[in-house]
Amino acid sequence: VKRLWCELAWLGGDAPERGVLIEIDDGLLASVTPGTAEPPPDAERLRGLTLPGLANAHSHAFQRALRGRTHGGTGSFWTWREQMYALAGTVDPDSYLELARATFGEMALAGITLVGEFHYVHHDPQGEPYADPNAMGKAVVQAAHEAGIRITLLDACYLHGGIGRPLDDVQRRFADADAEAWAKRVDAIDHHHVGAVIHSVRAVDPESCATVAAWARDRGAPLHAHVSEQPAENDACMEAYGLTPTGVLQQVGALADDFTAVHATHLIEHDIAALGEAGATVCLCPTTERDLADGVGPARALRDAGVTLALGSDSHAVIDLFEEARAVELDERLVTGVRGSHRAADLLRSATYDGYACLGWNARDLADLIVVDLDSVRLAGTRTEDAVSAAVFAATASDVRDVMVDGEWIVRDRAHVRLDVAAELARTVGA
Ligand SMILES: [Zn+2]
Repeated sequence: VKRLWCELAWLGGDAPERGVLIEIDDGLLASVTPGTAEPPPDAERLRGLTLPGLANAHSHAFQRALRGRTHGGTGSFWTWREQMYALAGTVDPDSYLELARATFGEMALAGITLVGEFHYVHHDPQGEPYADPNAMGKAVVQAAHEAGIRITLLDACYLHGGIGRPLDDVQRRFADADAEAWAKRVDAIDHHHVGAVIHSVRAVDPESCATVAAWARDRGAPLHAHVSEQPAENDACMEAYGLTPTGVLQQVGALADDFTAVHATHLIEHDIAALGEAGATVCLCPTTERDLADGVGPARALRDAGVTLALGSDSHAVIDLFEEARAVELDERLVTGVRGSHRAADLLRSATYDGYACLGWNARDLADLIVVDLDSVRLAGTRTEDAVSAAVFAATASDVRDVMVDGEWIVRDRAHVRLDVAAELARTVGA
């Protein structure tokens, strides 16, 4: 049994608890005891604010290589997608492993202990399966393992180049022959945490959406989908089916409490109600949604309807879950002129427990935790009762000092215990 004594730890309230003794047994939290005034002699003492590990519920790891290359100009989501496709056309299982490992290393340093990798680059550049049809997915799982973080591999079904449109050359890498072929391939992945993905209603027809949803339900796996990131997706969907993307997903039975809609930026009232009634999760990715000029999703209305919110760094324009968390509140302030739609503790729950849950994990059992340095220049002077607000509204990824996954330290004093993350990023992104 490993014992940690936290000067301050967040246990879910608006303010942190003082003097929290944590006992860890075999990677699990055996006990959490607030109000332990003095550290026991055999306990490691953690200065600063201890939080549960952060969950990055929506990631496309390879897009880290686009950072800095796509943000400066004009263009739209759709012209950005051309640049992303050009990158997606070049990776193979070896380079994918290196790029994903370095990206997941950056995540570890940022306090991210679990990633949901929304994975759709499945086959070789000609669209032919590799000798192992899951070579790319396995490379991503291996990358997370080597970076020391947990992963749920969210394997995407991707069939069409748009509603009623054939695949283009790059998209052939993403596609299986049909939803049954997708299911057969995914069943062969030997990993405990695999989730099902409907890439979008652009790429998956309604009948195939139903097949993917049924696969998830049969296996008790999470189900994710990109939903209404851009108005053009809604327009095409309305024209083809007379329904919004959420409406299509509702009709095929995809909406349930294991379903996560990613983005959900452009919703009508019926969509919000349907997601709420289903007890679904919405994964907001505010830094990407900003970067791509997607818009600001109706986060408060979703929460009021009963939707759970999670967070993702998606395209990795930046990797900083504190920035994602505060952006939910701050972007909404700009749109509505109202402050305080989301409490700091609620935003932190989205960044931790709720992200874990939508990826199929229960964070409350796991010895995954991070320590935020309250002596950093950004946080020095913070009063104890304000430490949760200060972390959410002012901390950055670089204030994460120590990171534990499964009871083992993977980051100590802002350094990864195994990887030189910056050097790996420079090498792999450069290549
Ligand atoms: Zn995405």
